[in-house]
Parts: sequence; structure tokens; C-alpha cells
Amino acid sequence: MISTKGSGKPAQAVDLAQVFLFDEAYRAFASDRLVMREQLGGKGAGLAEMTASGVNVPPGMTVLTSCCRQYYENGAKVPDGLFDEIKDKLKEIESVLDRKLGDRQKPLLLSVRSGAKFSMPGMMDTILNLGLNDQIVESLSQMTGNARFAWDSYRRFIQMFGNVVLDIPKDIFEDLIDDQKDELGVTLDTELGAEQLMDLVQKFKAVVREKKGAEFPQDTWQQLTGAVESVFKSWNNSRAIYYRNLNKIDHNLGTAVNIQAMVFGNMDSQSATGVCFTRNPSTGEKLLYGEYLINAQGEDVVAGTRTPNKISEMASELPRVYEELLSTTTRLENYYRDMQDIEFTVEHGKLYLLQTRTGKRTAGAAVKIAVDMASEGLISRGDALNRVEPVQLNQLLLPSFDLEDKAKAKKEGRHLATGLNASPGAAIGEIVFNPDDSERLAADGKKVILVRVETCPDDIHGIVPAQGVVTTRGGMTSHAAVVARGMGKPCVAGCEALKVDLERETLTVNGQTLRKGEIISIDGSTGEVFKGKIATLEPKLSQEFNTLLEWADQTRVLGIRANADTPEDAKLARDFGAEGIGLCRTEHMFMSQDRLPVVQSMIMASSQGERQQALDQLLPMQRKDFKGIFRAMKGLPVTIRLLDPPLHEFLPKPEELIEQIAALKAKGLKGAELRSKEHLLHKVRELQESNPMMGLRGCRLGLVYPEITRMQVEAIFEAAISLTKEGISVLPEIMIPLIGHVNELKISRAHLEAAAKEVMDREGVEIDYKFGTMIEIPRAALTANEIAEHAEFFSFGTNDLTQMTFGFSRDDAEGKFLQRYLEGIDCLGVKQKILSQNPFEVLDREGVGKLMKIAVEFGLQTKPDLKLGICGEHGGEPSSITFAHELGLTYVSCSPYRVPLARLAAAQANLAQIEQDR
Ligand code: PEP
Ligand code: MG
Repeated sequence: MISTKGSGKPAQAVDLAQVFLFDEAYRAFASDRLVMREQLGGKGAGLAEMTASGVNVPPGMTVLTSCCRQYYENGAKVPDGLFDEIKDKLKEIESVLDRKLGDRQKPLLLSVRSGAKFSMPGMMDTILNLGLNDQIVESLSQMTGNARFAWDSYRRFIQMFGNVVLDIPKDIFEDLIDDQKDELGVTLDTELGAEQLMDLVQKFKAVVREKKGAEFPQDTWQQLTGAVESVFKSWNNSRAIYYRNLNKIDHNLGTAVNIQAMVFGNMDSQSATGVCFTRNPSTGEKLLYGEYLINAQGEDVVAGTRTPNKISEMASELPRVYEELLSTTTRLENYYRDMQDIEFTVEHGKLYLLQTRTGKRTAGAAVKIAVDMASEGLISRGDALNRVEPVQLNQLLLPSFDLEDKAKAKKEGRHLATGLNASPGAAIGEIVFNPDDSERLAADGKKVILVRVETCPDDIHGIVPAQGVVTTRGGMTSHAAVVARGMGKPCVAGCEALKVDLERETLTVNGQTLRKGEIISIDGSTGEVFKGKIATLEPKLSQEFNTLLEWADQTRVLGIRANADTPEDAKLARDFGAEGIGLCRTEHMFMSQDRLPVVQSMIMASSQGERQQALDQLLPMQRKDFKGIFRAMKGLPVTIRLLDPPLHEFLPKPEELIEQIAALKAKGLKGAELRSKEHLLHKVRELQESNPMMGLRGCRLGLVYPEITRMQVEAIFEAAISLTKEGISVLPEIMIPLIGHVNELKISRAHLEAAAKEVMDREGVEIDYKFGTMIEIPRAALTANEIAEHAEFFSFGTNDLTQMTFGFSRDDAEGKFLQRYLEGIDCLGVKQKILSQNPFEVLDREGVGKLMKIAVEFGLQTKPDLKLGICGEHGGEPSSITFAHELGLTYVSCSPYRVPLARLAAAQANLAQIEQDR
């Protein structure tokens, strides 16, 4: 984040204009939309563009984001001259509207809002109705003939200003409102009349006096300057920082400040406020979608404190306004060529637009909107591919609830209630009622569902780790709904039938009470909430999903393979579009319960003959595995890696054995069982290594125990030959792990070729296979020219290569110190990050990447047709896939569920390169 430490220099004078009226802002930045967004923020850019294109926007000005940056550079001091500039621009707005800030006869009221380059909904601060004071509220009341409206506006202003500028907790004001409603026996804010609101204003002012030791500021200019500075400050509030960390937004961007004339949706029954999307943000359907409230102010819709009406109802309630809204929003969508999220206000029947921005959407909607817009000719196919975040696709591969099990649950009376289907997907978890519990329990590995009356930006740390969110109040555009959709998390909003008692931590519905910790299942696609677990089903992929990925396949040059160790995974990978298997880890075939004893006797063998006996038992099992995988991947290459992990991984832990031996001894048992356990312990200790990751593993195993390699090779070739005889095309690629020296590869290859030849000669069938190695050790990368002489392909094992390049243990780093490196380590009083990303997730281009580059260059020098791939975890991470593309690799290989993501990321990488080469 921007440091608040002063540079020691005095605040700089502002040389360049830092404040622009909306129409001026457009003219100043029209030549470069990117700079426009950077300087005006998303909201400011939208207001400037809307104003310029003739949309009805209340006049206003934008303070550039560079001012916020200066504010922090100057040690949290407003840049000199800024308020003078604001004053000048304000005069222009005042003269256009013939109203004045602070004027009793013709008062101008303002909104002051944040707006950064990237949308951070609800994370920073906003103040509405600025410019009211004890006198002006009376004038407003007389002018409008609506005392309720005037006093309601004033109490909202004191509440927001009190919280944002004066730092008084929100709850204090909210509790006073609740008390007032309880006294009157009403439930809605709208049921409070002018008298009661006037009373509330007095109470609010008393709170300010008590907390701040001063009166609520009556000077409207002082109100404005305080509000502007608070918006700067809100850039660095904890929820904004959390949100930026979560979304990897640069902490140095700063926010713009938008100061705009107020229009009022809470003036009368011909006034309204609402939020709409040009297409459905949940499904992508092309239809104006949103909500509005008659006689209300914007925060009522967004905060979810009143459940609003569907926008379609406006067609009958305010027909003329609805028509205008429809045509304006369509114009905006065509202009931005993307789905827009629009805030509007209707004052006395006149429509004003307050904001337009690119709408957040679910993954399903993102795919549908991108494909539809390309089909409508609004954007190109390349644009459509770039519109979808590759990682979003993973959400579409998540399961949904089994309809039969749902029907059964309904019969059993487990259907608790139905709310709004705010963000699709199925989630099952324990109920928690507060975000801290959600964070804590999820950190302990529990799956939780956060149940709230409504959520607010402060709850974000509890929403992120939850499986899903339920709120009992609020609509489709309430905070919970918007945030959950943005994160791809199932959400049921406005589920009013559920009565939540936050204090007792209970949820009551239809006479049943559920407590914290009880399991519920929520369906964000239908809005249903069930008691207990509902069975889930694999997802069905939409037509648009397949279309988008077909376009990706036509665009990418990088091949996509999968890491799969079983026929089921291989089939899944193929269904998701994998073009082969890039890594089959054979040790996973050794781990199953029925095989482990055989594997253990192989390891325990005291002679080669004994070992061979165990291997003879394993051979048919491995052969069966390989046949299954080859069959699933028929016609496509399958890279099989020979055994890699240290042998002690297949044996019990010494502590467990010591305990078992002690127990046997305690019972006085001294027979065969005890002897066998003691023998096992002896062997486990013999195999124990101080640093197993660097011990007897990888190719070293096969070199020390060549009979293991032999058994695996025989199983591979017997399986391949048997399928070839059935007429199935098999393309095996055998890969040796953890090579560091060319001689390791040479000898491994000799063993392997001899075994392969023997099987092929015996069976009289030739199998066309490839031989290659993994590049996982820096020395292998640096001597890739020698290694390439003995390999037809390299597959970068970037997990080990990262471990060995950084010297970070894969097993220890993440749990022990890596998090500290990512969060920042204290450096003489200032927290400094050592790493910006976890290198086990995102490939470290500068170090690990450099070694890969060397290996690619050296390898290709020796063998120009060398095939190159990645099979570490990075093969399924978008920015690492881009790097693989830039390096000119042949393919990336990732887990089956990441294959769609990788297809899209590879297409985006190629599009970026084409764009760059232009
Ligand atoms: C690697 O090291 O990147 C790799 C794929 O092998 P493993 O993770 O099995 O060590
Ligand atoms: Mg490895």
C-alpha cells in the first residue's frame, strides 16, 4: 500500500490541473482510454464518457487519482492548491445549476464518492447529501414541501459523515434508528415520519458531540474538504487493502474523488433509485436486469436493507422512465461493448444516470456474454476469448445438486426456505453466523456457510473462505450477491423466511431451529436452502462453454495435456479437451490399499530373488493400470514417469511402529507379529534420510534397483502390445525423473531399452515409443545440451525445479515461512514483501524461468526437434502458461480440471503475442 511515511519534503504545489469537470475530463483524456481510467478512475471515466455522449448525468467534477498518490507521498497531506481548484470548479457547477453550496435559498447538495482504476465495490467511502446543515435542512423542507424527505436526507448525511469522516462506528447510529422503530412499533425505515427523523437528527448530533467533543460541522465548505480527504484515506482502510490483496490490485494506484450534484430518488413517489445490468449477471441472458426502489436513496438498494422490486415492474410503475432507461442502457452497452452495471436515480420522473461500469458476472454469464456478443458482431472472437478469466472456467466445472436427492430432501421436510438465486452453484457446510468464525473454522479445514441478515464490506474476510453465503435481507444487487458473484461463490440472498438470531447463533424457520455448526446445503442457482447434505452431481457444460473453447483451440499454438494417473482421470481429461497425458505418476499406482503390502515386501526384500517375487506380483497390476490409461487415451500420447518418490514413503512412520511394538510388548506378545514389526522398524530406519527430497529418489532409485525399472517397463510394453493387438493406437512416452547428470540418463536409458526390446522381441510387436526426461534439477537445465543427446523430449518438473532453485523445501516452505515472505517482513519498522507471489503457484520467471530458458536454448541446439513441456503445477496456472507460450514450449500439462482453463489461457497468450508483434 502507499506508505504514509512523509518524504520530509513540504507538500508540493500543484502545477497541473488535478480537477476536471466531467465534460472537461472527457476532452482531456479522450485520446487514451487507458490513461483516462488511470487518472479519473473507473467511475470518473464513466461519468466523463456518459456526459460527453449526452446521457443525462448530474454535473460534477473528478479529482485525479494522482492527487491521492500525492496525498500519501506528502505524508497524508492534501496537495497544496487542490481545494482552490475544487472551489473554482464548484463555482462553474453552481452557475450551471443556479444553486450554491451552503446557500439557504438555493442550496446545492453534493455526493462525494471514491472511484479507483479497478472497481472495488463498497470497499471505499461515499458521502451523500453533503451541504446540509441545521438551516439548509429547513429550506430544503420548505422548497420541496416535503419535510420527511429533507430530514431523512439530513439524518443520512450525519450518519455517513459521522462514520466516514468522524470515525464514529456505524452501529451507534443504526441502533438509534432501530430503537426509534421499536418505540413506534414499525419495521421499515420508510415508516418513520418527519417528526421522528427530526428527533433522530438531534440524537445523531448528540452522538457526534459526545464522541468528538464538538458540534456536527455546519460549515458546508468544511464538510466538503473533510469528505474529500476521507475518500483519500479510505483507499488504505483495512477492507480496501484486503480486497486489493485478494484481487491482486496494485496498492499504489490511489483513488479518484468524484464530487457531483445530488439528485434525489427519495423525493416523492415519482422518484426512485436503482441498479441495473444490461444483461443478467448470473446467467448472461440478454435482458435488462436489476432492481429499484420507489422513494429511496441509492444506499437502500445496495446495502440490501429493503428488498427492492424487479426492474421489469418499472415498465408498469414508471413506464416512460423505463423506456428511456432501456434505450440509454442499450446505448451504453453498445458504446462500451460490454455488459454494464448502471446506477440510476429518478427525481420527479426525470431519469439521471450516476454510474456505469463493466458489470461483474458469474463465470457462466461471462462465457455466455462473450460468445453472444461475438455472435452479435459487437466484439471479435479474440475479444470474446480475452473477456473470460481462465480461472473462472473452473467454477463451471463444479458440481450441482442431484435433483433426485433434492426431491427426497423435500419429502423429508428438509427444505427450509427459498430466497433469491443470487450466485449459482451448490455449497454444503456448517452454519456460521459471523465472519470471524468463518475465517477461523475454514482455516481449520472446516467447510462453512456464512449466514447473515445482510453482509457489508467489513465481512469480506468471512465471505472469502466460506463455501457459500446466505442472507435473509437484500436483493440481487445487495452486497452479498455482488461480492459472491464476483468470487464465483454460491449465494442465496433475501431469504426472508429464515429468522436469524445473531446473538444466540440460531436460525429458525417453520418452527425448526438450527444452531451454529449444523450442516446446510444451499443452491445458489435456485435460491433453495436445505437442512443437511444433498448429494452432488458433475456439471453439465453449456453450448457457449464449448464454443468458446473451440475458438480457443483455433487460436492457441501451445498443446494442452493432462496429469492423470488413472483411467478415470485420463477419460475426464480427454473429455475436457486434453491432447494427451503429460505426466502419469506411477507411484500413485503403488499406493492403493491392496497393493501397499506387496510394495512393502518388495522394499523389505533381503535378496534380489525375494524382491523379484514381489515385483512379479506387482507387474500384472501395473500392466492393468497402463492398459486402462492407454485405452482411455487411444491415439494420443501418454507420458509415463517411472517411479520417483523415496521408498520410505511406502512404509509406515517409525513413531507408529514404535508404538505398536510397545503395545505388543506390554501385552507380553513375543511371536511373529512382534518380530515382523521390529524388522520393519529396522528397515524403515535404514531407509530414513535427513533430507528425503534430495535423497534416494527419482532416477537414483531405478539406478540402484534396476529391477524396479525393469518391471515398470515390462508392464508398459506388455500393455501397449496387448492394445496394439486389439487395433488400438498407443503412443507411449517414457520419462525418467530427477536427472542431474547426463550419465544418469544414459544408464537409465540402457536399462529401459534392454527391457523394452526383450518384451517386443518376445511378443513380436514393435511399439513406437519416445524416451525423455524431466528437467527438475538446475544442473540438468545448465547441461541441457548434453542431456538432449539422450532424450527426445524434456518435461519441466517445475515443482522440483522451483524447490531446488530457491532451496525452499516443498514440504516445509509454505507452512513455515513463505506466508511471511508474501505478507512482508519487518525491515527497520516498515513491512517489506520478499516475494509478491508464491513461486510454487506462479512460475518465477526471473530465476526458475531463466533456467528453463537456458535448457530450451541448449536443448534445441543439440536437438532441433526436441519436444518441450511443463508438467509441474504451473502447467495449470494462467500466467505460467503465458510464459510457456513465450518460451515456445510444445505443451503444458495440468490436472484434468484445469484443462479448459489452460486451453483458454494458451489462446490468450497467443492473442497477446499477435497484438505485441503488430
Ligand atoms: C515436478 O517436480 O514438477 C513434478 C511434476 O514432479 P513431482 O511433483 O511428482 O515431484
Ligand atoms: Mg518432481
